[in-house]
Amino acid sequence: MTPSDDDSFAADESAVWDAEPVDDAGWYVDGVDAAPVPDDVDRVTEVADMMAVFAAQRVLRVEALRRNALDDAARYGGAIESVVDRSVRLELAAALRVTEHAAASLLGFAEALVHRYPAALDSLGRAGMTERHAEILVDLLDSAEPDVRKRLVPRAVELAGELAVGSFRRALRRLVELEQSATLAERHEAALQGRRVVVEPAGDGMAWIHSLGPEVEAHAIYNRLTAKAKAICAHPDETRTLDQVRADIFGDLLIDGDTAHLAPEARGIRATVAVTVPVLTLLDESQAADAAPAVVEGLGPIPLAKARELAGGADGWTRILTHPETGVVLSVGRDQYRPPPALRRLARWRADRCMAPGCGIPAARCEIDHTIAWEHGGPTALDNLAPLCKGHHTIKHHGGWQVEQVDGSGGALHWTSPSGRHYTVHPERRVPVFRAAAETAPAPF
Ligand SMILES: [Zn+2]
Repeated sequence: MTPSDDDSFAADESAVWDAEPVDDAGWYVDGVDAAPVPDDVDRVTEVADMMAVFAAQRVLRVEALRRNALDDAARYGGAIESVVDRSVRLELAAALRVTEHAAASLLGFAEALVHRYPAALDSLGRAGMTERHAEILVDLLDSAEPDVRKRLVPRAVELAGELAVGSFRRALRRLVELEQSATLAERHEAALQGRRVVVEPAGDGMAWIHSLGPEVEAHAIYNRLTAKAKAICAHPDETRTLDQVRADIFGDLLIDGDTAHLAPEARGIRATVAVTVPVLTLLDESQAADAAPAVVEGLGPIPLAKARELAGGADGWTRILTHPETGVVLSVGRDQYRPPPALRRLARWRADRCMAPGCGIPAARCEIDHTIAWEHGGPTALDNLAPLCKGHHTIKHHGGWQVEQVDGSGGALHWTSPSGRHYTVHPERRVPVFRAAAETAPAPF
């Protein structure tokens, strides 16, 4: 019997989804009790699982091919390793009818899984993750220091088994960044010594000007240029591109330090960068070691001293303490359907993405959905709001999916598909709840 042998499957409640022996009549004879009848989704996931198992087999065989070629070369007096590698790459590319570049990636991937990440290979071989998850895992962990890598492997394998590709990549990247941030302050201090500005000729009377400096400042400069340029480009008579206007403002500011000639709407724009600073980190050096590091949106962790400086002073830094900022209204209950701007911002900031399973659309481009619809009595409150992209917003209301917020989870959504499958989507950030002073310590982040 094959998976497409529809009738016998649907008819026989005791059929099991496995390659068990069948009797003369074509029915399964083993595992008779209580196995559910597979549905269409199962049929697809089964093939996907087989593909993961085959991917693991391919990895093992590719690495064996490389290993054996090296051993042979050593035994017969040895060509240089790089020559053997090159030869294996050509052999593999020719046999698989792919480019040598693709063959080289495959060889590198196989070597990494077999020798550096055997736990991931094992999971792939059991269809615990897809090949794409394994590729991301190798990519991101390889970018970390060997000791950091070692500590993160178990958690990375676990995440690969739980998260969709996009969420997995973001979660793992953040893990690597946080893990490496332990030594961030020293590394940053050393790198800072190399700050400089250089001019590089580009021909045709043009030249590049490169400035190497702290990442936050570079982004602040670029963001300010962009904000000013956008204000200018909005003018109907403006014919320059955004790139050109940015370059012109850059020159004007550094040559004259003067933007007086700019249109009024482009004046007075200051750099803004959103910095997330855990309250504990700011309060007390001794607690800082245990607290999460300060993070600049889109960039990753920054040194503690820098975070203190940014959170304490200068205008133009949007400070998002991991504590609802004073005055943020977390709920307006049933008074108002449309969430006030601060509440919308907080719901978006918390989720960072569309809250549908696996969706990567940035929250800024999403609609804010009342999880329990307003007309069914749902309040306009942070624990009943979540950003959904237009497509997923429609599916939630008309696609036969059920969606609810997980109680006390700080914004996780539980999705139930039309076929009865369950998926939980966690927001990218937590909005911590602080108890009254009498109850002492703040609630866990
Ligand atoms: Zn979406």
